[in-house]
Amino acid sequence: MTQRSISILGATGSIGASTLDLVRRDPAGWRVVALTAQCRVGELAALAREFAAQIAVVGDARYLPELRAALAGSGIEAAAGPAALVEAAGRPVDITIAAIVGCAGLAPTMAAIEQGGIVALANKEALVSAGEVMTAAVARHGATLLPVDSEHNAIFQCLCANDPADVRFITLTASGGPFRDWNADQLAGATPAQAVRHPNWDMGAKISVDSATMMNKGLELIEAYHLFPVGLDRLRIIVHPQSVVHSMVEYRDGSTLAQLGPSDMRVPIASALAWPRRMDTPCAPLDLAAIGELTFRAPDEARFPATRLAREAARAGGAIPAVLNAANEIAVAAFLDGQIAFTRIAAHVEDVLSSFAPPAPACLSDVLAVDHEARARARLLTESA
Ligand code: NAD
Ligand code: MG
Repeated sequence: MTQRSISILGATGSIGASTLDLVRRDPAGWRVVALTAQCRVGELAALAREFAAQIAVVGDARYLPELRAALAGSGIEAAAGPAALVEAAGRPVDITIAAIVGCAGLAPTMAAIEQGGIVALANKEALVSAGEVMTAAVARHGATLLPVDSEHNAIFQCLCANDPADVRFITLTASGGPFRDWNADQLAGATPAQAVRHPNWDMGAKISVDSATMMNKGLELIEAYHLFPVGLDRLRIIVHPQSVVHSMVEYRDGSTLAQLGPSDMRVPIASALAWPRRMDTPCAPLDLAAIGELTFRAPDEARFPATRLAREAARAGGAIPAVLNAANEIAVAAFLDGQIAFTRIAAHVEDVLSSFAPPAPACLSDVLAVDHEARARARLLTESA
């Protein structure tokens, strides 16, 4: 294959590291344009040097002198701040990995979409917040949005050449997170250290907490709603503790297609990197005999109300999913900081949702304004907790 160009937004994160691991195995296959991070300057500079990136950008502008010093003599451009992230993300490339965490990734991801290339999306919060604004931009600029989230990548593969009109149900699988068998009292006392220790996946702190509250699956429900045009009533969630079946599509003739694989994000990332072909990964082959059993159970929305909140937000549409996402980001940060109890995360999100229902956003700046205001309201609530 000829050499392709790639930018990785969120290069120092868990998804960024998995992507770079694959790129590292095929150095002749890739030309790295932009690598970005929020603040880990030393790590970012080392990656930029290793991969001979064109530009390295740090989101927090205070670190610019440090980044410049770390890249001195390399010929690699150094830039900083939110506008620089957008500028770098807007440089033409064959494929962008959108792997910043949270709504902070929205503007850079939109800049990548506006180039009209392939955008491999891990940053689910961006699509949840921007919804139609993002999907309209994808259509307007002729971009290709490839889902990296393992469930959505699985669904994308299972839909293949089928007509969405023939789909009866899409079922997102959920591991259930580290607390899936905990009772209400145990949940109330869950600590940040326990919440970030996921049984099956090794991920960033924010998504690990989302997985523990099941808000991750709620966000993924909204993500699926925007990616796959089958309507909310055809989207379901099932708890599958082994995380081997990554999601399923059931067709109207009764046939169900599932995608299986190891719990290793390099598999869906590779599927996006090589699309529409396939590439090698170092992941161990799936050993179903060793796994032995695959089990499934219905989600429990009494203990984990986040999926109900997300479904209601998706049904309300407009700005409401952006409010849900922003409130959740603030509540998760407050929980990780020890300010609020684990079970208050969903409660805070519900409180913000019941107090703030702005009109539907028409453009990126509208979405960012909703996000900003919802964060301010959520902060007031968490600070008074
Ligand atoms: P992470 O915390 O490990 O990494 C996040 C990256 O974003 C880092 O490079 C960080 O520097 C950067 N970043 C953080 N805040 C930023 C800001 N304000 N401005 C600019 N950059 C910022 O997170 P992760 O686990 O790699 O997740 C990244 C995204 O991928 C999330 O949206 C997550 O939901 C999604 N995702 C992750 C996994 C996984 O296995 N890790 C699986 C599916 C989806
Ligand atoms: Mg997922």
